[in-house]
This record gives sequence, C-alpha cells and structure tokens, in this order.
Amino acid sequence: MIKRLLPILLIIFTAAFAAAATYSVDKVPNVHLADSTRFVSNPDGILSPEAEAQANALLRRLMRETSAEVACVVVDDIDGEPDDFATDLFRRWGIGKKDNNNGVLVLIAKDRRRAVIRTGTGVEGLLPDGLCGSIIRANMIPNFRREDYDSGTLGALADIAGILSTPEARAEVMSKYANNAGSDDDFDGDAAFKAYLILCVFLTVAGLTLVVYKIIKTAGMPRQQKYVEFHKIQLMLLIDSFVGLGMPLIAYLIVYFICKRLRRGKHLCATCGKPMKLIDEERDNDFLTREQDIEERVGSVDYDVWRCPADGTTEIIPYVQLDSAFAECPVCHARTFHVVSDRITRQPSTTHTGTRVVTRQCVSCGFE
Ligand SMILES: [Zn+2]
Ligand SMILES: [Zn+2]
Repeated sequence: MIKRLLPILLIIFTAAFAAAATYSVDKVPNVHLADSTRFVSNPDGILSPEAEAQANALLRRLMRETSAEVACVVVDDIDGEPDDFATDLFRRWGIGKKDNNNGVLVLIAKDRRRAVIRTGTGVEGLLPDGLCGSIIRANMIPNFRREDYDSGTLGALADIAGILSTPEARAEVMSKYANNAGSDDDFDGDAAFKAYLILCVFLTVAGLTLVVYKIIKTAGMPRQQKYVEFHKIQLMLLIDSFVGLGMPLIAYLIVYFICKRLRRGKHLCATCGKPMKLIDEERDNDFLTREQDIEERVGSVDYDVWRCPADGTTEIIPYVQLDSAFAECPVCHARTFHVVSDRITRQPSTTHTGTRVVTRQCVSCGFE
C-alpha cells in the first residue's frame, strides 16, 4: 500500500516544491544587500553558475565605471502582473543612486514567458521603453524559445551595459555618490546615515518638548524651585546633544540660560523694590548661620546671599545638592547627617541571623 502511494506522494511533494518557486515582491532574495558585489538574483538556478558569474562581473564593472546600478532577477514565476511586480520590486529595493535615480531592473519570469526592463528616471532618456522592448525582442525572445536562458539574459545585459557606458551616457548617469575608488558599497550606507539623521532630529524634538513641558509645569512656582526643576534636566540634555550630533544643543542652551537667569539674574529687594547685589562666596559666610555654613562646607546645600545696597535687606536662597551624601538631621534639621560607619558585626548563616551596625552622625550638632 505504502509502496503504491509513494510515487503519488512524491508527485504531491514535487508540485508543492514547484509552487514555492512563485515569488512575491518581498520573497525575491536581495543578493546585492547580502553581498554588494552581486547583482543577479537567480534563486531557481535558471541561469548556469558560469552565466551568473559573468553577469555579476559585467554589472560590477558597469557600476564602477558609470555608477549605474543594474539588478537582474531570474525566477520561475511571480505573483501578479509582471509590469506591476517589476515596478514594486524596483521601488522596494531602491535600485539606483538617490540623487539621479540611475537604476535598472531586468526581471525574467520564466514560466510566465515574460521579461520586463524597468528604469529609474535618470536613465529613462537613455533606455526608453521602445529601446527596452527591442532589447527584449532581439536577445531574450529567440534564445528563451530555445530554453537558452544564459545567452538571452547575458545578451540583454550586455546591450544595456553598452548603452549606459558610452561617454555621453556616462556623463548623464554618473552619480555624485559615484564609487570610482572601486568600492561597490552604495545605497545601504546612505540609508543608515539617513536613519541616524532622523534619530538626531527626533532627539532634538524630544529635548525641546521636554523644555516646553518644564516651562509649563514650573509656571507659578517659586524661583528657586523652578531652578531645581530645570537644573535636573540640564545634564540629560547635554548627553542628548552628544548623541544627537549637536542638534539637541539648542534645547540644552535654552535650559542653560534659563538656569543662569533664575539663579544669577536680577533679584529685587522685598523692601524697596530695587535690584539687590549677590554677595561673593567668601564674604557670604558672614550672613549664614553656623549650620548653614557647615552645610555649605560639606557640600549638601549651596547658599546664595543677596543684599540690598540701599537698605541692607538680605535674602538667603538655599540650593539643595541632590547628589550629596548628607541627609537632613532629625534633631537640628541641618543637611549634615551622614553615615560614618557601616559594618557587619556578625555574619548571617543558615542557623542564625547576622548583625549590621550603621552609625550616622550629624556634623553640625553631633547627634548619633
Ligand atoms: Zn532694598
Ligand atoms: Zn544635627
């Protein structure tokens, strides 16, 4: 029974395999993307390996000399109408240099008995539809009829290469991204750089959006609280600027000047309304309490002292340093409370718990 079924199963498998050779646009192997020295996609082995190698060499030389990109796809069958398929595939692969659209796609669907030559706008003048039609009629139709796919394809590619490499044609198709140095690297690098530029623009927009959000959020807040809010995002925006090729620097600079204006800008006297003067760091200790002086020395709070020259009114503005190791003392409330020792006096084991002794001390009042 099984023996009798075997040939039938074999036929079914073969049929399924044959059906798999029908390609949709995204299923055609993009050999050039994987290996920039290859231009011929021949997944069904319709062209002989020698012909494929010969065609790749021809198209490689053409690209080096003229920068024109000719891709050739030879498959058993395709989904849909060959003209539409060629247009879709041409667009999907982005054949040709971006600046002058000098790409050409030669599509051969063997079982459909159809060949299509699709050209980018930059080579349309050199390879008009009528001429493409004659290339197909002269090379492909007679050879394909004899099942000689090698000669038909190579003949057509040689005709196209001949037309694109005349000196006049060369001047027309040469891209400013030309790769005369012998490198065949092309659209992939451009696309990656473009994607990075888009990321930079995104980072800039994100930075500016954050600044606008902060401006709205801090509206009506007291001046020093506003300063803290903007100061928090300053470092982040600076890092953003480095990653974003300097573009987000605009957001950083806006925040930098907002912070500067909030902290060092004009302060008006609460008594007489005249502008006050900032007392420099050395002399401002005279105006600070003993606790404030210690806080400033341990770096937990930075005090700005403003004084009115007219009536002697002073205003002391604290800026708490959030990255400081000092916390607020529960007794004297100065930000001078910190860990002086942290040790394990008894190691924990599987049978008993351990002991850890942490000692915190206030530099200001000595509370421990
Ligand atoms: Zn005053
Ligand atoms: Zn204390």
